[in-house]
Amino acid sequence: MSSFSIERLSRPLAKHVRRFGTKVINNVRTTRGNYAKVTSADVQHFKSILGEGNVLTGDQDVQPYNVDWMKYMSGESRTVLKPKTTEDVSAILEYCNDKMIAVCPQAGNTSISGGSVALFDEVVLSMQRMNNIIDFNPLSGVLVCEAGCVLESLMGHVESHGFMMPLDLGSKGSCQIGGNVSTNAGGIRVIRYGTLQGCVLGLEAVTADGSVLDCLNTMRKDNTGYHLKHLFIGSEGTLGVVTKVAILCPILPKHISVAFIGLDSYEKVLKLFSIARQEFAETLSSFELMDNTTITAVEDNLKLGCPIANVHPFYVLIELATSQPNLNRHLENILEKALDDSIITDATTADQTSTINKIWKVRERSIEALMKYGYVYAYDISTPLNCFYDIVELLRDKLKDVADCKAVCGFGHIGDGNLHLNVATREYNKELSGIIEPFVYGWTSECRGSISAEHGIGYIKRNYLERTKNGKALGLMQSLKHTMDPKCILNPYKVIPPSET
Ligand code: ZN
Repeated sequence: MSSFSIERLSRPLAKHVRRFGTKVINNVRTTRGNYAKVTSADVQHFKSILGEGNVLTGDQDVQPYNVDWMKYMSGESRTVLKPKTTEDVSAILEYCNDKMIAVCPQAGNTSISGGSVALFDEVVLSMQRMNNIIDFNPLSGVLVCEAGCVLESLMGHVESHGFMMPLDLGSKGSCQIGGNVSTNAGGIRVIRYGTLQGCVLGLEAVTADGSVLDCLNTMRKDNTGYHLKHLFIGSEGTLGVVTKVAILCPILPKHISVAFIGLDSYEKVLKLFSIARQEFAETLSSFELMDNTTITAVEDNLKLGCPIANVHPFYVLIELATSQPNLNRHLENILEKALDDSIITDATTADQTSTINKIWKVRERSIEALMKYGYVYAYDISTPLNCFYDIVELLRDKLKDVADCKAVCGFGHIGDGNLHLNVATREYNKELSGIIEPFVYGWTSECRGSISAEHGIGYIKRNYLERTKNGKALGLMQSLKHTMDPKCILNPYKVIPPSET
């Protein structure tokens, strides 16, 4: 299976204009908060907690921690701290809270909403050394591990026990479970296994003042008042730093079958989705959509062959997973009928691991293929399925005269109503960004969708949060932030809109 790494992708940075502690990114001006600057005495104190080698201050040492995966943002942090234990995290946060030093927690730094890098000179708290697997219970399937474990290594560990991780992402080779939990990452199998809000049974987090909150429950059922874990799942490090997690892992299926299917309209994609849910029921583990523009980018820019002839307006990838054999025969029968009924126009199936992996690469590397054009305006929205693809066509029409526009396309998780809408250009253009964003978020808001299905709000989308959350809800978020982090030291400038902080 493919995985991304920060080094493999290169594209120009979004233009930043700095003036007296002010930055303009994506047409949004942000001024540095009234935080203390890190002094040499602070650095010495951090070294006394973590040891000399785990406090980075050199330009070249801190540089990789200052650029996000999509290269939307470049931070100016001068200090990267690498704790090994929860106690280290606690001591650092207690000190930073006392000194009014802003902190940017960072896991695998694969965020594409600009949530994982500092904006100004926040201290970066890298979780990469907290990578121990604490326990795996082969009876309950509950994994307990530290936040810095890389998702792919956790996959390997639980698979050796006959289990699987409930989430799978293109960035699995770099992303860390603490970041996955903090952003409530989704991925390609949410239709079958749900989101992390359901799979995470418990967690340990350190709050802004250094307090350790032990909610590391490993029971499936626990109705004991407020589920505090949910404050940290998806809050992107603004309420606390996740240090340990307990996750319920499903049984690894014995048989997997995959189909790659061509269709001539979006209406037929929905018909096929309805048939797939009825016929495959609980064995349906993915139902992914890609349009022709996406597949053409994968073919042209990555030289990956489309599993069927690239002549169809739409493509669907179906994955079935079960403990029962003969799954592939059933899949083929259903697809043959759909072909006879003119719902689909072409299809290929696979039940061998190497071919399955080859087919999945086409879907998993879609964003990487688009980034080869130069710059990608990437939107991650939830919409009702009946209008899921409308925004792609509307935006394509809106941008038809933009000379630099290389591709307007959509792919995503039909099963979850999650569209990845992308506009690829040779370079970033702030006027174009100013046209696309209000249009996309306005449309999403009108159809009562979500402006962030799975990537989080981060820095990039915080000014649009009110399109999804009403004033009362934003007010409650603000109250929670002030209660849990009154000095606002945790991941400032992220998630909550500037007027609400
Ligand atoms: Zn996705």
